[in-house]
Amino acid sequence: MTPPAVVWTPELLGYRLSDTHPLDPIRLDLTMRLATGLGVLDGIEPLAPEPAPDDQIERVHEPSYLAAVKSAPEAHFPVGHGLGTPDNPIFFGMHEASALVCGGSLLAAREIAGGRVNRAVNIAGGLHHAMASAAAGFCVYNDCAVAISWLLDHGFDRIAYLDTDVHHGDGVQAAFQHDPRVLTISIHQHPMTLWPGTGWPGEVGEGDAAGTSVNLALPPGTRDGAWLRAFHAVVPSLLTAFRPSILVTQCGVDTHYEDPLAELNLTVDGHRAIYRALRELAETTAGGKWLALGGGGYSLFRTVPRSWTHLLATVLDRDVDVDRSIPADWIAHTAGLTGVPVPTTMGEGGSVEFESWGSGGDPVDPAVMETRRAVFPLHGLDPDDPRD
Ligand SMILES: [Zn+2]
Repeated sequence: MTPPAVVWTPELLGYRLSDTHPLDPIRLDLTMRLATGLGVLDGIEPLAPEPAPDDQIERVHEPSYLAAVKSAPEAHFPVGHGLGTPDNPIFFGMHEASALVCGGSLLAAREIAGGRVNRAVNIAGGLHHAMASAAAGFCVYNDCAVAISWLLDHGFDRIAYLDTDVHHGDGVQAAFQHDPRVLTISIHQHPMTLWPGTGWPGEVGEGDAAGTSVNLALPPGTRDGAWLRAFHAVVPSLLTAFRPSILVTQCGVDTHYEDPLAELNLTVDGHRAIYRALRELAETTAGGKWLALGGGGYSLFRTVPRSWTHLLATVLDRDVDVDRSIPADWIAHTAGLTGVPVPTTMGEGGSVEFESWGSGGDPVDPAVMETRRAVFPLHGLDPDDPRD
């Protein structure tokens, strides 16, 4: 078995919605520079994707939507489909850039399905809000859903999708809420307090897929320990019961306390702990198969590069200590791009200790109970039993 696959080409930086848009691809460039500087990618030859062909994108998107995306940059009239809004501005090369992101996640899926690797990562992926016929939340094509759909046709009949972005993974849930073969679990800031306003615990999936949409809605202000407590109170039991043949994760880092778009209070140390937990769960519940995607994250200089370097390192089993110093040339390069203080170490002193659920009261426990009560019985689990 070769080392895990890392999908990357600088062409992925072309997914740039506007000069002032919060989803700035500089975060991807800084991540690759930091991971390289720390030696995380030593000996790894990144795999450069091709744009996904239309018939693959149309696994989850309407042909009329693709036509709108392609024509939008030249159109002299509103094209609809959520395009041309402040969140989803129209940009030249929009179809090509979006198809390349999609192709990256497809390439990662193919590497795993072909048996060449057990794990693959595409930090440019994770565009989880795109809907069948509309752009949404900075996302044009839903690479997560396209990759999952492809995997369903290539030997993976039970797929678990786990979304740790601060926003609800609504586009992926919508794509598979009728499909019992795909378990989607989204852990996010409560929809009463954050766009897109969905992801309530009562959204559990439809028909014979009841129980395969899972939503854990956390109160604003949730910190590392409480986030991890909630995660461990819900996710391992469900994955063990579902027995996925692969774990697909959207690893958005807009849960960070400095993120300008949301109000959870995680740290880089917390993100590192999450990735280690995802790796453990892939090993223990999904036969070691793990497809990791990026996602949101708008603290461009201080958070995303560190957190996704930890993601790359975790996928590659080259874990980076939180006390590790950041290379001077990365600091100098980044300081030249921003006025914000540039970090100097790979952690920030976040406490990732937590008491396991069932051990007494915590402000996050009502959220945990709501989700457990909504879906655990549908998987033969007891929502009130701390052993489940
Ligand atoms: Zn997000």
